[in-house]
Amino acid sequence: MAILDKIVALAKRRGFVYPGSELYGGIGGFWDYGPNGVELANNIKRSWWQAMVHDREDVVGLDSAIIMNPKVWEASGHVSSFTDPLTECKVCHQRFRADQPDEIEAHTDKHRHEGQKSVAWTEARQFNLLFRTFVGPVEDNSSLAYLRGETCQGIYVNFLNVLSSMRVRVPFGIAQIGKAFRNEVTPGKYLFRVREFEQMELEFFVHPREATERFTYWKEERLRWHLSLGLQKDHVRFRQHESTERAHYAADSWDIEYDYPEWGWKELEGIANRTDYDLKTHGKWSGKDLSYSDPLTNERYIPFVIEPSVGVSRLFLALLIDAYKEDDKRAFLQLKPSLAPVTAAIFPLVANKPQLVEKARSVYHFLKKHFVVGWDDRGNIGKRYLAQDEIGTPWCVTVDYDTLKDDTVTVRDRDTTKQERVSIDRLKEYIGAKL
Ligand code: ATP
Repeated sequence: MAILDKIVALAKRRGFVYPGSELYGGIGGFWDYGPNGVELANNIKRSWWQAMVHDREDVVGLDSAIIMNPKVWEASGHVSSFTDPLTECKVCHQRFRADQPDEIEAHTDKHRHEGQKSVAWTEARQFNLLFRTFVGPVEDNSSLAYLRGETCQGIYVNFLNVLSSMRVRVPFGIAQIGKAFRNEVTPGKYLFRVREFEQMELEFFVHPREATERFTYWKEERLRWHLSLGLQKDHVRFRQHESTERAHYAADSWDIEYDYPEWGWKELEGIANRTDYDLKTHGKWSGKDLSYSDPLTNERYIPFVIEPSVGVSRLFLALLIDAYKEDDKRAFLQLKPSLAPVTAAIFPLVANKPQLVEKARSVYHFLKKHFVVGWDDRGNIGKRYLAQDEIGTPWCVTVDYDTLKDDTVTVRDRDTTKQERVSIDRLKEYIGAKL
């Protein structure tokens, strides 16, 4: 079985990811995060927020609305040109992105294997990715609105609000985590290309003179963060966009790519120098002055924007792939302990001895105040270890008959499977230090 198939199966079996609306046959490009998945995703987001906002002095957070005045998307160019080239297979009328030759080729080959001699494709046409909806009780052009295609527009339209309400001075950044929606022509590759996803975006405003230097800084900083989560060094790399590839307004654009099994190197995060394009454009369309006046030099200018942007689901998938380990005895997720959905799982040795269960419950309730802990009293201990291994729980704590005599428990390490005897009054420090 290919590694990706194993991960998809494990993610479903262990409550990480379920197909969206599975009960009704699913819906392409939408996935649901189960109890363990939501914990992992929250830990990823928390780590990003910590690194991008709380650990810094020059970044503030924001949470803007998903639905905005449609003029935002007209000004940004999304209504007219947030498009992908679409081509249709003339045999089965399935539609694909014309700029993804590997997908076109695979589909053509599929028909050839089925015995089709000639497989023709329609001329490519531009397909807009914005999801449309209507605001209020009347559905016409005056109530037309869009689900946001990227989170950053909410940041640009709040630039003046943040400037006037917070004690910030350029250079500074605004960070946001939130849902984005794209009606992708061909969603697929599991969590890689979906139609509803979360972005973690920073818009960092700088003096145009400093843009190149700041760009280099953020590139390095972002790679450092991905490595700090445990992604393997040889699975990530930088790739600079060709001038033909990048948006017309971007002065420079690089991707941090991840080497996904089967699909190869693909964009995990994009880092762009968006120049003064966004603030200039919104200034023009809104008629408001979005320039910045430096209080020290009195210089007035429109700041440049450096943007690192990463999708939660692409990173979630990369982390699962990197963490997945197996040998002849077990499969386990070697997640960084602070990312694991459960930090420690507590087991009474057997479930039918009230004294053991009571003692284990007291350990469970005590640790729950400090960490995310799980409880399992079903089946034999070996099976419980295997279940926790598959969700990446770093430590399993077993309460046994010796515990009743000397107040010590067995702590079993996920990676080495080694067991250690630890006294209950040291347990919190023991786990805290390792975490
Ligand atoms: P791609 O070329 O792969 O479609 P993009 O260049 O359009 O991606 P951006 O607009 O730069 O992507 O979005 C920033 C980040 O948002 C990407 O690096 C990716 O992590 C994430 N992202 C974009 N589109 C999707 C999607 N359909 N599903 C999941 N994540 C996405």
